[in-house]
Amino acid sequence: METSGETLDPQDWHEFRRQSHRMLDDMLDYTEKLRDRPVWQPIPQEVRDVFRKAMPEKSGDMAEIHALFMKNVLPYAIGNTHPGFMGWVHGGGTPVGMMAEMLAAGLNANLGGRDQIPVEVERQLLRWVRALFAFPDTASGLFVTGTSMANFISVLVARTAALGETVRETGLPEGHGLVAYASASAHVSISQALDMSGLGAAALRKVALDERFRMDVKALEAAISQDKAAGLRPFMIAATAGSVDVGAIDPLDEIAELAKRHDLWLHVDGAYGALGMLAEEIAPLLKGMDRADSIAFDFHKWGQVPYDAGFVLVKNGELHRRTFASPAAYLQRESRGMAAGSPWPCDFGPDLSRSFRALKTWFTLEVYGTEKLGRAISNTCALARYLRQRIEAAPMLELMAPVALNIVCFRHLGDDKINADIVAALQESGIAAPSTTRINGRLAIRAAIVNHRTERRDVDALVDAVIGLGEKTR
Ligand SMILES: *Cc1c(COP(=O)(O)O)cnc(C)c1O
Repeated sequence: METSGETLDPQDWHEFRRQSHRMLDDMLDYTEKLRDRPVWQPIPQEVRDVFRKAMPEKSGDMAEIHALFMKNVLPYAIGNTHPGFMGWVHGGGTPVGMMAEMLAAGLNANLGGRDQIPVEVERQLLRWVRALFAFPDTASGLFVTGTSMANFISVLVARTAALGETVRETGLPEGHGLVAYASASAHVSISQALDMSGLGAAALRKVALDERFRMDVKALEAAISQDKAAGLRPFMIAATAGSVDVGAIDPLDEIAELAKRHDLWLHVDGAYGALGMLAEEIAPLLKGMDRADSIAFDFHKWGQVPYDAGFVLVKNGELHRRTFASPAAYLQRESRGMAAGSPWPCDFGPDLSRSFRALKTWFTLEVYGTEKLGRAISNTCALARYLRQRIEAAPMLELMAPVALNIVCFRHLGDDKINADIVAALQESGIAAPSTTRINGRLAIRAAIVNHRTERRDVDALVDAVIGLGEKTR
């Protein structure tokens, strides 16, 4: 039998090594000199066109492809590594995380299961997460893409709690009447999770907000009573710790009390806010989170771990396992050899092939430590308060929501269009990059300070540019 002997490894390792070092140096230069670049810049059509070609049949040269990356990819990312980025809720990443990601890629580990130290590293992360949130040793957890997936997994476990495992086999029973609750400003991934679970997005009740943009507990209780009176079956409350529009934290302790009284599953979407536990002055604001049945959060936001690194934590680990574990001959478990070490991560979620997200997270925690990471989180909140001060001192600017954590919503005098134009012009200027949201029906300029690199001068640049652009519109 003739075989080619050809592999995909380099023929000239020496040259490959030199090229690899150039690529590493380029990324380190990029990170070191981020400030010299615009946050974001509009993408010319020629750059988009570079990628529109047929799939290559012949081998290319890595140095040339690298040059193409430097010219056409690197300058046109969204800019969340940049200290001036304040849009949505994006983490900044770190060089430590980048290097760990390279190690993980070199190892090419598949963390679905089996007896390997990469899975053990993920288990250690779970132990740390349990300790951080004061969850018991029987709690289970899993790295996932992000909080959207973690919310979905949590809804499915809550569904098992309400209907039993048979629902996995038989689907939802006729007239099950299950309904869930979240605040009106909960992230859209909660209603999507209900949609994907088969319960339907309409099964999610959007509870009114109080004056601090938190879930109004009286309105929540009224909604539960009303649904019960109508013969429906409340099963879950999805509270938010750090809402995406203004950074509000629902009153977790009161909601936990209510959940207990009505025997409801309490889920906390703490996508970015939950890691506030690492910061001394924020942790008390999250009181009651330990009473949740499940928590969804991201290491890739406030935790600064490079994308993606979401996490789901479930207090009842056995219920979590029973929601996902499936028998399959090729996943046969053994007590020795490579197939030992059950249960495996694939028993706790829908993914079988899984990347080694735990490694970049482990490196981040080991290298920086929780104190330094906590200080970075605190600092984003201090910068938000500084931004609030600057807004309050500027007569043409108006604060639109209380600053609970690290998100500031404000606007310039004038209508929605003027404010939308200011934000678009600001993004195109490359000076600073906030995004927008709507607060009580009005468009707001929204600055979410998540990046550990952001400093006072970036906040000043944002405010000065908003005022400057505002002047031009008059
Ligand atoms: C970012 C965010 C999500 C979604 O998380 P992903 O990691 O983007 O999937 C959900 N809820 C809140 C409150 C968020 O801030």
